[in-house]
Amino acid sequence: MTVDQKITQMNVWHLQLPVNARRDHGIGSVEHVVDIVVVGLVAEGGETGYGEASSWSVFTGSAEASFAALDRYIRPLVVGRTIGERAAIMKDAAYAVAHCTEAKAALETALLDLQGRIASMPVWALLGGKCRETIPLSCSIADPDWETDIKLMERLREDGVRIIKLKTGFKGHAYDMMRLDYLRTHYPEFQIRVDYNQGLHHDDAIKCVQEVATFEPDFIEQPVKAHLRSLMARIRDSIDVPLLADESIFGPEDMQTAIAMGLSDGVSIKIMKTGGLTRAQTVARMAHSVGMSAYGGDMFEAGLAHLAGTHMIAATPEITLGCEFYQASYFLVEDILESPFEVRDGQVIVPQTPGLGIKPDLDKVAKYTLSFSNGK
Ligand SMILES: [Mg+2]
Repeated sequence: MTVDQKITQMNVWHLQLPVNARRDHGIGSVEHVVDIVVVGLVAEGGETGYGEASSWSVFTGSAEASFAALDRYIRPLVVGRTIGERAAIMKDAAYAVAHCTEAKAALETALLDLQGRIASMPVWALLGGKCRETIPLSCSIADPDWETDIKLMERLREDGVRIIKLKTGFKGHAYDMMRLDYLRTHYPEFQIRVDYNQGLHHDDAIKCVQEVATFEPDFIEQPVKAHLRSLMARIRDSIDVPLLADESIFGPEDMQTAIAMGLSDGVSIKIMKTGGLTRAQTVARMAHSVGMSAYGGDMFEAGLAHLAGTHMIAATPEITLGCEFYQASYFLVEDILESPFEVRDGQVIVPQTPGLGIKPDLDKVAKYTLSFSNGK
């Protein structure tokens, strides 16, 4: 029986992947490289399932912490267990190491990929079945050099992408207003979202957000620090544009607080924040139950994590605002998958083949490896 197969080996890689541009966000910048952790689980029949932890030290945590969580604290809970024990393994992992949500997302991804490959089922089928074949893609506009972003806008237009998220709050309010005006004038066919990544000071937040709201973006995301929850609720009340929470809501526990406080109109759901795909589905259902909208966010990810998010959204009808899985196509110098993460006419294509649908290319993984452990 498929589900009785034991997991015999766990491999963990810490990779640094070169990127082609700089990204400025309200909480910090990324340039030169992004750090990710890849985990591979081998079953006794020889099949391997893979998952990715995409950490950002200023947001979720560090890649070093993800690596240690998997290698030291989670490994003993996994090796020797059977594939059919996914829920029990995830429950044990939740309590074996605090936080480290990216490591837990990587673990659940690898367990699902492994089970899907052995059972010849896509991961979305293991998450309840699919509700969509494609997901609208949003690309972030976040380069400190505006000319570089305009070149990216031209490429996106040519590629058929029609949603962008303008990253704001890193270079002053006047700069944000100038860029919004420019985008509305020169790129009228694009849907625009705005994301501050906590970048506004609490003294100025309401005034700045109200002025940005005059451009009528689809939503304005996380203008202030994650812990300023009552201010989030006040900002929400002060504008007609929907307010989205990102850094304020990691998992279902935060979602419960957000609902009780009336913190926002919607939530950016990321498997790296929730600690897995099934917990991401839980957040989406909690949001839906109170009339909050849900968006498929991501971290600075490679294609492997994009695939996990894609399968999760494909199986989660409550996530209606598209996704931002743009890094594999528009930010990484080279992705790590065997074949490209598929985006066509501005839509992410949901894979139909077993597991995640595409495996990492182990030569590329080796090329970018900083450290590796198989537990021996
Ligand atoms: Mg965000």
